Amino acid sequence: MARVGNSIIKGIEVEELIKLLNRAYADEWLAYYQYCIEEKVVKGIMKDAAIAELNQHAQDELRHADMVAQRILQLGGTPLLNPKEWFVHTNCGYEEPKNFDVVAILEDAIKGEQCAIKTYSDIIEVTQNKDIVTYDIVSQILADEVEHEEDLVALQEDISEFIKQVKGN
Ligand code: FE
Ligand code: FE
Ligand code: MG
Repeated sequence: MARVGNSIIKGIEVEELIKLLNRAYADEWLAYYQYCIEEKVVKGIMKDAAIAELNQHAQDELRHADMVAQRILQLGGTPLLNPKEWFVHTNCGYEEPKNFDVVAILEDAIKGEQCAIKTYSDIIEVTQNKDIVTYDIVSQILADEVEHEEDLVALQEDISEFIKQVKGN
């Protein structure tokens, strides 16, 4: 544990912070798996564009999991050690793909990103002026999640528009 590093945390319990970060850690792994499987099962018009986006997001979520784990360790905590715990601690859960159509898959993914944005903005509120290091890491992740939502929404709109045009002719 970073002794002086942790001594600069004011007005918030380190144990509480570790709990919040472990919840986010569970979310990131579930998001990673969700993107991995969505990328494989997705079907329909313009699916290649969706596959490229889903694949890139999977890599980002894995990187986020790593960033969060590093911070948990710095704080003197232990990242969740067993995947079984992901479902116990997750905020956002797991959206099992049931409909493999590209528009439905993108909808599931958008829901996940919207939950991630909410989760990280909550951690940002808790850490603001209290734990600048976590605040900074979580701000970087939040910026990615906002970009993820926008990418997926824009793609879903393009695909829906294209389907409308095809049907109209
Ligand atoms: Fe993420
Ligand atoms: Fe994301
Ligand atoms: Mg993207």
